[in-house]
Amino acid sequence: MRRVVILGSTGSIGTSALDVIRRLGGSFSVCGLTANRNVKLLHQQAEEFRPQVVAIGDPALADRIQIDGTRVVAGPQGLEEVAALPEADIVLNALVGASGLTPTMHAIQAGKRVALANKESLVMGGELVMGMIAETGGELIPVDSEHSAIFQCLQNQDRRGVKRLILTASGGPFLRLSPGELASVSPRQALAHPTWEMGQKVSIDSATMMNKGLEVIEAHWLFGIPISQIEVLIHEQSIVHSLVEFSDNSILAQLSLPDMRLPIQYALTYPQREQSAQVALDLAQVGALTFQRPDRDKFPCFQLAYDAAESGGTMPAVLNAANEEAVPAFLNGEIRFTDIPTVIRETMGRHRLVAHPDMAGILAADGWARETARAQLCRIAQCRKDSRQ
Ligand code: MG
Repeated sequence: MRRVVILGSTGSIGTSALDVIRRLGGSFSVCGLTANRNVKLLHQQAEEFRPQVVAIGDPALADRIQIDGTRVVAGPQGLEEVAALPEADIVLNALVGASGLTPTMHAIQAGKRVALANKESLVMGGELVMGMIAETGGELIPVDSEHSAIFQCLQNQDRRGVKRLILTASGGPFLRLSPGELASVSPRQALAHPTWEMGQKVSIDSATMMNKGLEVIEAHWLFGIPISQIEVLIHEQSIVHSLVEFSDNSILAQLSLPDMRLPIQYALTYPQREQSAQVALDLAQVGALTFQRPDRDKFPCFQLAYDAAESGGTMPAVLNAANEEAVPAFLNGEIRFTDIPTVIRETMGRHRLVAHPDMAGILAADGWARETARAQLCRIAQCRKDSRQ
């Protein structure tokens, strides 16, 4: 019996993970769940899975959960407590954004297998997180579909024989729009992802291709491969989830229909494979698999992520924080889609880089970047308002 904690259980990855655990039956149990605000769904999940503890982000909502045998904790401390729960074997970090970094560190420190769906942990704190893994001998299993694919391709392979990692990208909903057309796209259009069903933040990041940029940085830390040896190919069918090229020019890939329950299940059952409820891939029905290079001029966020990765240090945390501020502003209709990279570029341009930051240094860069980005967002929003009057 393996006991699982899910951080962010009410989001898209969290609910999929509970679905996987439900289907895996008696060999897995849930001992901790956390949610930010969705107290109704958290209560429902706790009633079904009977965890020993749940954490809710907003302390004001804590008394809305009352279940026999389940302790309720709240706020950032509550989240950290659940992340390091002594009874847990596996901690699935499905938090969205920068808030995932500290719980990842706590879970690793506590010796858990961390199933990582929170890419920001590695984007912001890659050096610290991997340093801690090396120190504690901990386990970090990727849940992001691309990284799970690479992880699977690397099983029983000598890492020295790896020549390139090739991450695939669906291209998002705007693959065929011209750069000019991108300026006027609506949040609703940006949220309509062609192949994956995901939360709002990741959907917008897919539309700007920032998501792929963050994933390149994530892969760099996770697999210890230089950024210059990580490439991205647009693969619209989302069947080939990523590939590894070896020194003999042989390429291995992992294929399946796009369904996050598969990489989630693999992270839980690894190194075993269990039967899954997913529909089997019928390649004859898919017919053609196509690949093309991404257009870096049309998707400047993607290039900005590479730039941040090359700069290293605190720059990826700054990239991420500015993006986390810009995306909700776009969703709220305050800025245009094409303002997102502008705000990020400006923020990065003003940053004074710290080469090897500690945790406090990373969080300081994150805070600085948010403030700087917010000031620009206000300016842009104000300009738009003025021009409309
Ligand atoms: Mg992904």
